[in-house]
Amino acid sequence: MSKPTLGIIGGGQLGSMLATAAKKLGIRTVVFCDDIDSPAQKFSDNFIHGTYSDKEKINEFISKTDVITYEFENIPYETLNEINKTKPVLPKPSINRIIQHRLAEKDFINKLNIRTTQYVLITNKSEIDSVQNLLPGLLKTTTLGYDGKGQHLIDSIKDLNELDIDFSKGYILEKLVKIKKEISIIITRFSDKKYEIYEPIENVHEDQILKYSTIPAKINSKILEQSKSWAIHLAEELKYVGTLCVEFFIDKNENLYVNEVAPRVHNSGHLTINAYNISQFENHVRAVCGLEQIPLKKISNAKMVNLIGDQIIVYRNKQFEKNEFFFDYLKKDIKNKRKMGHLTTLIN
Ligand code: AMP
Repeated sequence: MSKPTLGIIGGGQLGSMLATAAKKLGIRTVVFCDDIDSPAQKFSDNFIHGTYSDKEKINEFISKTDVITYEFENIPYETLNEINKTKPVLPKPSINRIIQHRLAEKDFINKLNIRTTQYVLITNKSEIDSVQNLLPGLLKTTTLGYDGKGQHLIDSIKDLNELDIDFSKGYILEKLVKIKKEISIIITRFSDKKYEIYEPIENVHEDQILKYSTIPAKINSKILEQSKSWAIHLAEELKYVGTLCVEFFIDKNENLYVNEVAPRVHNSGHLTINAYNISQFENHVRAVCGLEQIPLKKISNAKMVNLIGDQIIVYRNKQFEKNEFFFDYLKKDIKNKRKMGHLTTLIN
């Protein structure tokens, strides 16, 4: 049987790494992106530039691919659903619809008896008066927020009065957790009860942007088991196909909370490229293209550091040790807070 051509919606570094993994498996890729300078086009076989509502370009994309996936979750549901009528979109658009909306996502997770932070939908300023028990809290947009974008720390009603917020955009207020540690679990599900799960990854954020990811995570055995079992439960309930990331908080009392679920490959899993026999990217391609599932084997412990903004410049001229792996995302412009590359160091 000939191998399918994989369509990837979104052209950032995750798209580049998916295309690289696909190439290794002999799978052709077509990247579809609204950014003419998208870095993933340098790694894919074909590139289509268009907005995510451009019907003509989307039809061209559909005609050139056999199965379609995406590297970020904020693609209009209508677009994914339309494409799915002609060619399979994996993970399913209905999954993306739940996860791209913070309220729907948290309601779904809680229904499974999996703990999240406490939260409430806020539709206008006056409602905060009645939910003082969630203060201090973070006011987050229900859609389109990432890396702390669209989030406001609210200590008291006074803070809120000082902010100029358009509540019609949709917000939730989330109680601030006294975080001891953040971890994530990456799992690739192939079909019913068939999955490969990576060990928990310990993450450190700076300015709400992921800075360091390390395996092994220094966590107790209860958290290890609970985080894995919640990730498996979520993937099974969603009947997910592909790679999924679950982000967790651990508080000072060793309680575990799901912060959010990413229906895609994830930044915290970059170290899987060098630390495992099969990376999260290769596993994603294997699952969505219906290729063989191969048991995961860890090769080494590892630490990844994200290179943000102009930090990339020094690394572009650096000599690396044998256990260091430098990735330059080849983005056209260096911007403040922009993820420009990463370095993974294998450690023993
Ligand atoms: P998010 O965009 O929701 O993943 O948030 C980005 C980062 O902000 C998280 O990784 C945490 O470091 C921090 N954060 C988000 N929500 C909370 C919360 N409820 N309590 C404490 N810290 C949070």
